[in-house]
Amino acid sequence: MTADLDRDFAGYGSTPPHPKWPNGARIAVNFVINYEEGSEPSIPDGETYSEAGLTEAHGLGSPVQGRDLAAESMFEYGSRVGFWRLQRIFAERNLPLTVFGCALALERNPLAAEAIRRANYDVCCHGWRWIHHTKLDEAEEREHIRMAVASLEKTVGGRPAGWYCRYGPSVNTRRLLVEEGGFTYDSDYYGDDLPFWRTVSGKPHLIVPYTLTNNDGKYAGWVGTSDDWFSFVRDAFDMLYREGRTAPKMMSVGLHLRLIGHPARAVGLERLLDHMLKFEGVWITRRIDIANHWIATHPYRPQASV
Ligand SMILES: [Zn+2]
Repeated sequence: MTADLDRDFAGYGSTPPHPKWPNGARIAVNFVINYEEGSEPSIPDGETYSEAGLTEAHGLGSPVQGRDLAAESMFEYGSRVGFWRLQRIFAERNLPLTVFGCALALERNPLAAEAIRRANYDVCCHGWRWIHHTKLDEAEEREHIRMAVASLEKTVGGRPAGWYCRYGPSVNTRRLLVEEGGFTYDSDYYGDDLPFWRTVSGKPHLIVPYTLTNNDGKYAGWVGTSDDWFSFVRDAFDMLYREGRTAPKMMSVGLHLRLIGHPARAVGLERLLDHMLKFEGVWITRRIDIANHWIATHPYRPQASV
């Protein structure tokens, strides 16, 4: 048996299932905020450098030996300010959010954890903290999953329904999630516009694919204005909405508090939401609701899984 035998290059092919979204919606849109600030590599937490990913210093390299207090504060903008700005933008429009929650980050900001609970955002576990799961052995990875779940149960008041690795998954991650139990789905997959089932360790397991394309990471690494970002993601929405006349899909939009939480970028998000709200048949919803809808309307069939 070779490794590529557990890859599926064909998927749904030219005949994807009709998702039958509620109320005949032509598209299901899920907005995700990545709650990461406080879980990134840092010297106080034992790493040898200060992380600058997806901040103003992204890609510039860190010339600082020792703690980089500037980089640390760029992260803190996300949890101190960006979180509340994004929460306001969604609340003003009465729209839901999904949180990709790094467990340690939420321990370090009880105010945000409480706001997430009160707003009834669904939480998909984004790991214990920023760690390369590919560098953990199986026992360590199992322990990280366990610690993350226990932590989120305390901070946001419930088990995370989903899982999405910060960095990519290891070859063991999906099986360890199924063995841990309690996960409705994972999102460690980028290869589709619709959820699908897999059989993992003999059990049904739902995958709700994610994307880094419709993501505010596009703001990092190049100078992009709010209009650039808005028109890029709007184009994705418009095409999926057109396709949705006959073949509806789902769309994920990923956001980072320390990036799109800044005013000049958050404007692009407001434009995007207001664009989507002009159309009929747009189901803006939480990730868990997409997962539960799929489970109810497209139940697992062993012969249909890979
Ligand atoms: Zn993330």
